[in-house]
Amino acid sequence: MTEKKLDGKKVATEIRAEVAERVARLLGRGVVPRLDVVLVGDDPASRIYVGSKARVSEKLGMVSKTHRLPAETTPDKILALIDGLNEDPEVDGILVQLPLPAALDTHAVLDRIDPAKDVDGFHPVNVGLLQQGRPRLVACTPAGILELLRREAIPIEGRRAVVVGRSDIVGKPLAMLLLHAHATVTLCHSRTRDLAAVTREADILVAAAGRLALIGAEHVRPGAVVIDVGIHRVTDRATVERLFPGDAARLARFEGKGSVLAGDVDYARVEPVAARITPVPGGVGPLTIAMLMANTVRAAELRRGMAE
Ligand code: NDP
Repeated sequence: MTEKKLDGKKVATEIRAEVAERVARLLGRGVVPRLDVVLVGDDPASRIYVGSKARVSEKLGMVSKTHRLPAETTPDKILALIDGLNEDPEVDGILVQLPLPAALDTHAVLDRIDPAKDVDGFHPVNVGLLQQGRPRLVACTPAGILELLRREAIPIEGRRAVVVGRSDIVGKPLAMLLLHAHATVTLCHSRTRDLAAVTREADILVAAAGRLALIGAEHVRPGAVVIDVGIHRVTDRATVERLFPGDAARLARFEGKGSVLAGDVDYARVEPVAARITPVPGGVGPLTIAMLMANTVRAAELRRGMAE
């Protein structure tokens, strides 16, 4: 019998191993793929994300450089840094860690990145190419979800997919990928009426709303595949006990660390209804970083005419 839990960590390990092989091939041709990350300010979560991006890329044989700028950096300074990275032939991927401090215009900054080096896939050129069905560099979280579905042999063509959340980072690009994979796609958001009635139509339900445990059993058609993108740090014991009743391991982790991670899906209640489901942690999260690595190596290949 197939395991119900969709193991994002396992699939991410496969993807990373493939990336490492591609990096080795590039190194053999004298090319050292390089990812440059720009971190503005000192948001603790961003610092952790940036640290792990650098670590993983180095583990896979790439070079990673982090550019740390103070929170009060002027738009001119950050744009000048990006111009320099765009022009530097050694740099294959440029990633600006979000969120940026409120004083900076995020669109203006992201638009400045050379689309050929835009490993986050947020530049309008890459968004447009995705929309037209000729993806080049695709946003990492949605791309990772498609990889998971494909590698776990979950049929997409002709299926009904419902995505809860319409952000530029997750919901919209994911809807586009599912559409191109021939699903019938519905996008939901905060103004959707009777969310449960819509989500119950889904063969594939993706929760990317950024609301803890928004999706309960009543939102899920029995036998649906449920993908949980949300990441929340739960810091109070009562919520941990409510969300994970009888889960001694999770409670022990909470006792040890003072918090546990949970998603947009009420896992304990939805798991019995779903055919397959991603956990949090260990579901979509590891895929996102694996796809960033895949995008960096792809950017390196594309810039040298080694990929289509
Ligand atoms: P945003 O806040 O940018 O977007 C959230 C979307 O969900 C919006 O479109 C919003 O609607 C919609 N929404 C909010 N509340 C509801 C509701 N009650 N019912 C229906 N729709 C609702 O979030 P992101 O897309 O950036 O991230 C979503 C979640 O995914 C977060 O928890 C984030 O931490 C996580 N994340 C995880 C990643 C990973 O690697 N696993 C990567 C990226 C994000 P409206 O547009 O109307 O406001």
